[in-house]
Amino acid sequence: MTMRSEAKCGVLRGKYELGRFLGHGTFAKVYHARNLATGDSVAMKVVGKEKVIRVGMMEQVKREISIMKMMKHLNIVELYEVMASKTNIYFAMELVCGGELFAKVTKGRLLEDPARHYFQQLISAVDFCHSRGVYHRDLKLENLLLDEDGNLKVTDFGLSALSDHLRQDGLLHTTCGTPAYVAPDVIGKKGYDGAKADIWSCGVILYVLLAGYLPFQEDNIVAMYRKIYRGDFKCPPWFSPESRKLITKMLDPNPNTRISIAKILNSSWFKKKSTVRQSKSKLEQEFALGDGVNGKGNEPETLNAFHIISLSEGFDLSPLFENTKKIDKEELRFGTMTPASSVISKIEEVAKTRNFSVKKSDSCVRLQGQESGRKGKLGIAVDIFAVVASFLVVEVKKYSGDTLEYNQFCSKELRPALKNIVWTTTGNSMPEC
Ligand code: AMP
Repeated sequence: MTMRSEAKCGVLRGKYELGRFLGHGTFAKVYHARNLATGDSVAMKVVGKEKVIRVGMMEQVKREISIMKMMKHLNIVELYEVMASKTNIYFAMELVCGGELFAKVTKGRLLEDPARHYFQQLISAVDFCHSRGVYHRDLKLENLLLDEDGNLKVTDFGLSALSDHLRQDGLLHTTCGTPAYVAPDVIGKKGYDGAKADIWSCGVILYVLLAGYLPFQEDNIVAMYRKIYRGDFKCPPWFSPESRKLITKMLDPNPNTRISIAKILNSSWFKKKSTVRQSKSKLEQEFALGDGVNGKGNEPETLNAFHIISLSEGFDLSPLFENTKKIDKEELRFGTMTPASSVISKIEEVAKTRNFSVKKSDSCVRLQGQESGRKGKLGIAVDIFAVVASFLVVEVKKYSGDTLEYNQFCSKELRPALKNIVWTTTGNSMPEC
């Protein structure tokens, strides 16, 4: 029986309405699904039982279930529920909508700050797992998903092993993981420390984020393993001395001298505060545009073509994302060809009519109500980003106060006041790049 016939009329167990295909891993397919009772979207991972039994992976799948159920952490994909039919096993999981971190890096290496932001989240997840005796063992960029706020989520615990799977010598014995990310101690097959092996993989991930390519890359696997054994890699010139130091300590071929998580957490590169804010549009600002150029400063920051396309409906991105992400009704975003200073003046005019206090720079405005509403003073943040010099994206968000009051302000005052400057595909021509 196929998954579709099991899910009568596209509804699984009367509970989940199955939607579009999201992706597949080595032995699973992942679909979008909706919980009919709550309306919540989930990712439904479907694993064919027969295939799993045939390749002797039933234990692994059971392990995945028990491990994922133990793992509740902001940076780990949550498992809500497991269902089984005669032919399939269904995992209802937290839906992560921002794609794979891998896809981001294929567009170009990241700047240190966003790379650190992701790395800090990765280490937080890994530290959490290790503290519970769980080692991922297959950490790689493809297993790191991003949610719509740019939070990193570690997925695919299919290859994990609980500490009670450790042999008496306290070392794991299954060679697994992806060659380019695998520690030399794992290749060595003499038994290895799962925590140290994960740290190596995290070192490879950090290298890839900052370099845009793998540290150990060879056409044939033997040559690659030789390089891994020796810890034979070179940092490109744009790596800072601190990141270089940390990566070198993580990619130490000797697991006994390899840096521990505690020491990573204490390293100067790791501890540096990330200036990356948890906003999708800000996170799109993270690519290296060439050595030392990052578009930061007081000027409106630059966005990519994705944003222009997603703004083609005018005021709202929602028509394009209806089935793929929760729409944040508290956020208003639009494109404009009006200069930033004029956008800010328009917003100031509206603020004046409501007697809001205004704080501003060249690329952002903060408005605050004078009177406390039901949930305190209404606070509104307006950020302006430049796609190209002549085309800006304006993002409006509530940062404090009552949502109803904010929505009314947006629909009755802000939207009408800004209507004439909003760019749409129907009313405007595209800016020249
Ligand atoms: P996996 O079998 O876990 O490697 O998943 C295969 C692919 O499905 C991933 O590469 C993602 O593109 C997609 N996917 C997996 N889990 C999720 C999830 N929780 N939310 C959204 N997409 C997912």
